[in-house]
Amino acid sequence: MRLTVLGCAGSFPGPDSACSAYLVEAEGFRLLVDFGPGAISALQRHCSLQGIDAILLSHLHGDHIFDACSYVVVRRYAPDGPYPRLPLYTPAGGKERLAGAYGSPDEGPLEDVYDFRTLSPGTFTVGPFQVTAERVNHPVETFGFRIEHNGRVLAYSGDTAICDALLRLAQDADAFLCEASYLDGADNPPDIHLTGREAGQVATKAGAGRLLLTHLVSAWGSESATLEAACGAFGGPVDVVRQGERYQV
Ligand SMILES: [Zn+2]
Repeated sequence: MRLTVLGCAGSFPGPDSACSAYLVEAEGFRLLVDFGPGAISALQRHCSLQGIDAILLSHLHGDHIFDACSYVVVRRYAPDGPYPRLPLYTPAGGKERLAGAYGSPDEGPLEDVYDFRTLSPGTFTVGPFQVTAERVNHPVETFGFRIEHNGRVLAYSGDTAICDALLRLAQDADAFLCEASYLDGADNPPDIHLTGREAGQVATKAGAGRLLLTHLVSAWGSESATLEAACGAFGGPVDVVRQGERYQV
């Protein structure tokens, strides 16, 4: 499968990247994982505007979902549209949250655009992918994902602090796309995010093949310090991902 980073900025868009959005492709199927602000811009560099086949939202914080509102216009009002309803997997409350952000109650529901499917822990099929969702450790209900295709595994942390579920999701993953929002050594609040060192520790315990660090907060963090901390805890290849980069998993 192929991973394209459409956005990787943590918490708010950075000078060089949209917020979290990852295009995962196999057999011509395009699964969009998270849909943060600015991602529609990047999406158009990699496929047609209408080319997405399903959306998977890890949680309902704005930096992971708000372009799913902008995307309503794309599918509902396209000159050759409207386009077919798109499966959208979301934690509970996603239907109401997105409708509210779009303009409810003045605007109506979004069910003409999205086929909302509520996530619960477990394994399910999306196109050619087998997706395993587990709740991770973040202030709102948040899922991490293990996406499998043809024996290859991409694990995605979502937003999370250390938890056992993250270790299970990343077990023997070929690529572990993991958030590293916080700097090591800072006075970080508990149960929200990971540091680079913690991401590296999880990758080591899980036996991941490579570690892809994401969700760094560019204005407050340090890419070099995060990378160094992760490399100190994980002996395999480590990258800080960038918008537009592609990885064969
Ligand atoms: Zn979050």
